[in-house]
Amino acid sequence: MRGDLAAPPAPGTAGCPKHMEYGPCGGVESTGRCEVADHACSFLTLAPVAWHGSPAASTERARMEADPAGVPSPPGAAQRMRDLVRERPIVVADFPARALDAASLSECAAAVAASVDAVLAGDAGTARVQFPPAYRAALLRAAGVEPWMGVNTRDRNRVALEAEAAALAHADAAGVHCITGDHTRIGSRPDAAPVFDLDSTELAALMRRAGQLVSVAEAPLSPPVEARPGRLLVKQQAGAEICFVNHAGGVDNVARFVAEARTLGVTMGFIPCVPVIVDAGSAALIRGFTSLALPEGFLDSILAADDVREAGIAAAIELSLRMLDIPGVVGVDLSGGAAAGQELDFAQAEAQIAQGLRERVAV
Ligand code: SF4
Repeated sequence: MRGDLAAPPAPGTAGCPKHMEYGPCGGVESTGRCEVADHACSFLTLAPVAWHGSPAASTERARMEADPAGVPSPPGAAQRMRDLVRERPIVVADFPARALDAASLSECAAAVAASVDAVLAGDAGTARVQFPPAYRAALLRAAGVEPWMGVNTRDRNRVALEAEAAALAHADAAGVHCITGDHTRIGSRPDAAPVFDLDSTELAALMRRAGQLVSVAEAPLSPPVEARPGRLLVKQQAGAEICFVNHAGGVDNVARFVAEARTLGVTMGFIPCVPVIVDAGSAALIRGFTSLALPEGFLDSILAADDVREAGIAAAIELSLRMLDIPGVVGVDLSGGAAAGQELDFAQAEAQIAQGLRERVAV
């Protein structure tokens, strides 16, 4: 046991507030404390759970085939994105639009459409209620950007997730980012009941069976650090093709994590998160990310600059270039979010970063 943390009620799934089968989640605190409960993470001392299939897998196809519409056709955008990733590094941007605001979505999409290869649209602790992923994917596609949709297992059970998989295929999503998600006790809706019928690894399998290009997240610095590469291998065995690498304190930590994962047999492409900080509001928002670790001095030097916006854009470009040099890295994710009212400005900053990258490297 680390420090004076209480032992979990039971090891593994039974002691996990998210009932994870393939834990631990990325929210384990640096002390080993659970993301939500006042005890150690129940997976802290366990080896990665070997992939043994999803409880939804055995009968899911039969259920989908029982429907008159049958199994959904794989989205064409997924294959186009796979082809693009093989061709050159890609630039993905966290999508900053105001939640539930179609006009904000359209103007932010227009700001980045010519500059980034896809937008990653999920939720945030400050805005848990979003348009459903497939509906938002359709809006984003109509607005001219490739939608890479975040889907979590906190808000939907396996039945709703199967429906979402079919709808995302119909909406022609370019990618589906499968996460377990923060517990409802973290963020703006602690009144909601947490679901966690599946976890991120099981969701990856479900989405892959539906023909999606599946990405997952991994947090290299979240305990147990030594087990993170092996856990990623399990996600690959479940069907993941891309790993978004959470903020891990800088290039060296990302490079070490990628190398260790590849040594274990992980062949998926890696897309590290690059922090986008262009004002005090975006700095405050990124500080709220669970398991956040920024390069030393990164945030302070930006905020101390005479022109914070320009300093943040330049820093993101430089860090992206260094990330792209890591073997196995297939792109970068411009990561962060905007303070209320600054969504369009943030999207424009992301577009400037992407354009700046294109002037320096063939992305
Ligand atoms: S930190 Fe995450 S995986 Fe670990 S017990 Fe808590 S909720 Fe479960």
